[in-house]
Parts: sequence; structure tokens; C-alpha cells
Amino acid sequence: MAATPIHGVLHDARTQRSLRVEVDFDSARRAVHARGENLDLFLPEQQLKVERGGFRGDVVHLLWLGAAGSVSITLEDRDQVEAFCERASTTLADQIRSTRGRKPSAAGRIFAAALLLALLLPIALIVFVVQNPDPLVGWIVDRIPPSVEKAIGGQVEREISARAITGGPLSDALSRITAELSKGIQDPPFEMRFFLVPDATCNAFAAPGGVIAVHTGLLAQAESPEEVAGVLAHEIGHVLLRHSLRQMVYRAGLWSAIRLLLSGADSWVLGGAEMLTALSYSREDEGEADGKGLEILEAAGIDPEGLVRFFERTADNDPLMPALLSTHPTSEGRARRLRELSAGLPSPAPLDWGLDWPAVREQARAAR
Ligand SMILES: [Zn+2]
Repeated sequence: MAATPIHGVLHDARTQRSLRVEVDFDSARRAVHARGENLDLFLPEQQLKVERGGFRGDVVHLLWLGAAGSVSITLEDRDQVEAFCERASTTLADQIRSTRGRKPSAAGRIFAAALLLALLLPIALIVFVVQNPDPLVGWIVDRIPPSVEKAIGGQVEREISARAITGGPLSDALSRITAELSKGIQDPPFEMRFFLVPDATCNAFAAPGGVIAVHTGLLAQAESPEEVAGVLAHEIGHVLLRHSLRQMVYRAGLWSAIRLLLSGADSWVLGGAEMLTALSYSREDEGEADGKGLEILEAAGIDPEGLVRFFERTADNDPLMPALLSTHPTSEGRARRLRELSAGLPSPAPLDWGLDWPAVREQARAAR
């Protein structure tokens, strides 16, 4: 006799698609088996992480984080979760039951209910009247506290730090630059954490919560420490102006964003670092991040010429810069605007970085 099917929702963070699936446990493979339209997927038990979610803590997410992205299977009510536990291995069932045990307090639930009401009314209004998601996304982002933003960044940080270069001359050179740069950030909501990633593409990207990944390809292409400092000041600008957070909320969708507001980052399934590299900022964001970057450089006493030069070179469609350009769209006017803005700033005395820059570039080129 065929067992009653267990229903779940499979969410692919990479494509941002969700799909209804039948969920089962394959004891021979020790894997969760998900079947849906054009889909037959086995997620090995050992690679799964269990998270609790939902308004009453009775929703269970089975998360699989792989190099190519992440997939989650959500069991949406107590009965489906219990039916699944009956079929799963003892280890997985125990893990699910113990994770599920952490329920929000009664006061927390009342607060969340009140917050949901307070959120839904204006949200419904905005959705139906304006039919334009931008103000709504901005409204939600304004209400995400720095602690939650930092927790979101924490997911990305775990992924990036696992493959980051630590120690050695390249990492030291980056630390030298970021130490100077940090002097220009006044009252940051959280500490900025920089990670050097062995990747030959000339790129850097910022995650919410102050996590900034710097590719070795950026060190290899930059003609001076000031250019690196300039690009990173621009990235810090994106972080402080919450551009990456807004992009992630935009991509994750309305309901994920509301869940994020209600229950914090732990139940928000994000695409992590993979997703960040796929984000693209608007030209308005770029202009704002440039302005903020210049402010930071000025406060840190670093010559803004580096930032201006770097983006002038990208504006010339330098073939070495495609990765940076794809996530930070530039335009002809942008380099000119940067040039004008920086002309109004005082020129600081050149900094003694104590770095042999040609040697750093050479090492960065060799790093893999
Ligand atoms: Zn940018």
C-alpha cells in the first residue's frame, strides 16, 4: 500500500523559484527525496541543515547549501513535519524535533501578531495603490535593524571566509589598505570585515552587515593602493547605504521580507554569496556609493584620485574589468561626475603605505 504523500515546497535560491513537491526519505541513499514537476532530487542527509520558521515555529526548512547555490525544502505544518519524521532516519528526525522545539514566547507571538497587522495594512495599501515595489522595498529595508542585517551578512560571511586567503603578503597588503580606510568611517553600525578571495576576475562585492569580498584580481589590476582603497570605499558606501540589503530583499520577495522582519534572519532562506555576485546595482545606487566613497576617502586622508582613475579606466571599457562592470554599471557621465566631485576635495599628502605595489600585483596575479 502506498503511503500518504508528504507535501512540501522546494525553493531554489539561485533561480528564486518555488515548486510544490512530494517529500520522502530514501533510507538506502540516506537522502531526502523530493519529487515534483520535471524534478527528482536527492539531498543527502549529512549535508542538510535544519531550521525552524513560521509564525508559530511549526514550519521546518531542510537546507542544502552547495557550491552552486542553495536549495531548501519547506514542510509547512505540524502534520507534514510529523509524517516526515516517521519516515526519516532517527538522526534526522531527532534533529528536526529538537530544532522545532524552540518556539517563540507568548509575548513574542503577540508582538509579532501586532507587528504583522501594523505591517500588512500599509503594505496592502502600497501594493494595491502604487503597484510599484520600490518604495515598499525601501520601507521594509528601513525597518530592518542592524542586528538582523548583520545576521544576514553572517550567512554570506561563513561562505566567503571558508575560501578566503588568510595570512601572507597579499592578505597583509589588503589589511594595510583597509586599516587606513576604516579610519574614514564614522560610527559604523557594525565593523566592516574584508575577505581576500582567490579569484582572477577584477571584482569586489559587499554583503549586508559589513562583509566585503575582495578578489585577488582587483589587487592584480589596480595600479596603486589608492585605487584599491577607492573601490573599497565605494563598496563600503553600498553597505552603509544598505544597497545590497535592499537588492536582497527585492530578490527574496515580499513574504520572505515580512518573515525576516517578524522572526529575524535565522528563518530567512537566502541565496548567500552566490546570489550577491548576481546582484546588479542601479545607476542611482552607483552614484550614491561614489559620493559616500569619496566622503570616506576624504575622512581617511586617502587621495580620491585612485577612485576616480579606476572608474575612468572602467568607463573606457577596459576589457579587464567586465566582472566589476556587470555588477556596478557605469556610464560615460559617471566618471566625469566623480572627477568633478573629487575636484572640490582637498588633496591630502600622499600616504606611505609601506607596500611594494608592483610586487603585490605580481603575487596577486599568481594567486589562485
Ligand atoms: Zn557599485
